[in-house]
Amino acid sequence: MKAQKRDVGHVSAMQAAIYDPDAKGFLRLSAVSKPEDNVIVKVSGCGVCGSDLLKLDRALVSKGAVLGHEMVGVIDQISNELSARYQLKAGDRIVSSHHVPCGTCNYCLNKQESLCTQFKNTNFNPGAFCQYTELSEGHLKHTVLKIPDAITDEVASFTEPVACCIKAVKRSGLLSHKGSANVLIVGLGSIGLIMGQVAARENLTVTGLDLLPSRLELAKELGFTNVVHNLGNDFYDYIFLTAGSAPTIDLAVKAARDGATIIVFSSVKGEAKFDNNDIYYRELTITSSYSPNLEDLRESLELLKQGKVRVNKLITHRSNLENLGVTIEQAKQEQGIKVYLAP
Ligand SMILES: [Zn+2]
Ligand SMILES: [Zn+2]
Repeated sequence: MKAQKRDVGHVSAMQAAIYDPDAKGFLRLSAVSKPEDNVIVKVSGCGVCGSDLLKLDRALVSKGAVLGHEMVGVIDQISNELSARYQLKAGDRIVSSHHVPCGTCNYCLNKQESLCTQFKNTNFNPGAFCQYTELSEGHLKHTVLKIPDAITDEVASFTEPVACCIKAVKRSGLLSHKGSANVLIVGLGSIGLIMGQVAARENLTVTGLDLLPSRLELAKELGFTNVVHNLGNDFYDYIFLTAGSAPTIDLAVKAARDGATIIVFSSVKGEAKFDNNDIYYRELTITSSYSPNLEDLRESLELLKQGKVRVNKLITHRSNLENLGVTIEQAKQEQGIKVYLAP
């Protein structure tokens, strides 16, 4: 789509896909005011995250909101001062995480930046389902990363989701595991398919569980050791729940070997039930991981650059701003994996 700038009073306008509960896919093309201050980034692309879909489906945002955080863009406007301070200039291709942690609170000091109060209050605004967004100096200082020439915008848009998986793998304790282990990835959507690749190590078997044959096929191609469409009698040492329903934790407890760790990595409404003594006598660990730390974002971009995590085939649907809602609906119907927006 061609960028259309037009004036609404004194403020220039741009196009955005805004949340509208009555629109197809809950997104409608609309003119909104174009950001004019700080550092302006022209959006080149944005992945549609499961968390965006959740917010749309459950009406967790207010009407008119502009979502989108898996953003790739080009710096369009930056002051000379900021340019010199952060070695960034107009024309640079960048990714930026949505949030800026403070770096000094107890959460930040203990690698739980996503719980930091400042982190929660520093989304870039608007989100990237639009033509231009605005970054604060905090973003420049902490979260903006230049995209290496070797990787495409589409690949770079996975920086945040891959970083989420890096953090989840770290939190699972898997990286310091001694000897062999069985890893189970429950759900082979975009996150599950990335998680299996990030978790892969010598001495580990990585099994992917999903109901859809096409996803099992893709997981095989991406290096999963085994793929299954139901849980047999095997036991697992690390179980990543990247999708599912409330009973999934109970299933995971049953599939867990004594001493195993279960990592909750998806938003599931409802009660999760398990037997206290399963946890106690069998020394099971149930933990979670939500949103990455800054160090994970840097590692993520490096893994993508080295081709150690392959994400190309995860984008099954591409859209412009105008058709984003329709494309999201279509992707759901066609059991797609990831929608990518190029405004
Ligand atoms: Zn995301
Ligand atoms: Zn903090």
